[in-house]
Amino acid sequence: MMRTMLLKLSQNSSLREAFSKYRFAQRAARRFIAGERLSEAIAVVRELNREKILATIDHLGENTTSESAARAAAEEYIVALDAIAQSKIQSEVSLKLTQMGLDLAPTLCLENMRRILERAQRYQNFVCIDMESSAYTDRTLDLYEALRCEGFENVGVVIQSYLKRSERDIDRLIERGIKVRLCKGAYQEPPSIAFAHKRDVDANYLKLLEMLFSPRAQENGVYMAIATHDEKIIRWAIDYVQRHKISKDRFEFQMLYGIRRDLQLKLAQEGYRVRVYVSYGTHWYPYFMRRLAERPANLLFLVKNLVRGFSGQRFH
Ligand SMILES: Cc1cc2nc3c(=O)[nH]c(=O)nc-3n(C[C@H](O)[C@H](O)[C@H](O)COP(=O)(O)OP(=O)(O)OC[C@H]3O[C@@H](n4cnc5c(N)ncnc54)[C@H](O)[C@@H]3O)c2cc1C
Repeated sequence: MMRTMLLKLSQNSSLREAFSKYRFAQRAARRFIAGERLSEAIAVVRELNREKILATIDHLGENTTSESAARAAAEEYIVALDAIAQSKIQSEVSLKLTQMGLDLAPTLCLENMRRILERAQRYQNFVCIDMESSAYTDRTLDLYEALRCEGFENVGVVIQSYLKRSERDIDRLIERGIKVRLCKGAYQEPPSIAFAHKRDVDANYLKLLEMLFSPRAQENGVYMAIATHDEKIIRWAIDYVQRHKISKDRFEFQMLYGIRRDLQLKLAQEGYRVRVYVSYGTHWYPYFMRRLAERPANLLFLVKNLVRGFSGQRFH
């Protein structure tokens, strides 16, 4: 109920305008984002790298409404790739296709993606395409496949275990020897296409994980990012790879900045490859609301920041 409400609010543009201006909200969002500037994301990644944790940098933004904004978003990623190379940090980038103009024109989006991937190729870097709501699943996978057919090997895609179609999608993608990030899914989806209960989403996660670790997938060169903070799933995966003697360089764990830092460190210390998704930028509202929806207890954290604001600072 609370999850549904928060996810609905995440798409409300008037609330986004108002909420984003409040200091208490900005302070609360800082738990999950590195800052508004690229330099702040780079500083966070440098710290993570010091602890042997890799990163993927995300410039916050989605559902871009003009061609110029989509081109500017692509340019921001090109600047980020240059900065990653210059500062010698270990980080990939993650982006959303609606940020690159998918809602406006697929050709514009494709053009922006080519520019980013060509720049990433120059540095032997990698770009992961985030998965958005189910309205975009087909278009995202089609565009991803088109880029692969054009010869871009440095691009990966995300599959969500809450979608009932994901088993079919993974089966097809395994043929291509993909690099895939497996997550549970962060959007509001109808029960006709998505599992409604957490236990089914989790069970499907394990099923998909097994498919991606299968001999067929491994022979095709599939590389998997296990993107979850769910310790039960993580321990299950570790047990599975140990039993099946799957090498640690065939997969990695991924988590979000600001969530389960203890677990991130522990896994890195155990010798697993760990990558943290580090977001920055001013368009943090929908991303922040999805983090609240995942764990409504985070609302308390928001309220604490509100109270701190009332007792100490003026809003603006
Ligand atoms: C690297 C990465 C990339 C992602 N990319 C995408 C994407 O492209 N598309 C997409 O739809 N989703 C994406 N997600 C989000 C994902 O779908 C889930 O919504 C999110 O990871 C929460 O689910 P969980 O797997 O951690 O499991 P849950 O069962 O939700 O959580 C397990 C435990 O993790 C902790 N936890 C989880 N979320 C939070 C939170 N917000 N605040 C505090 N603690 C929390 C809690 O301790 C909780 O008990 C991504 C997640 C990660 C880690």
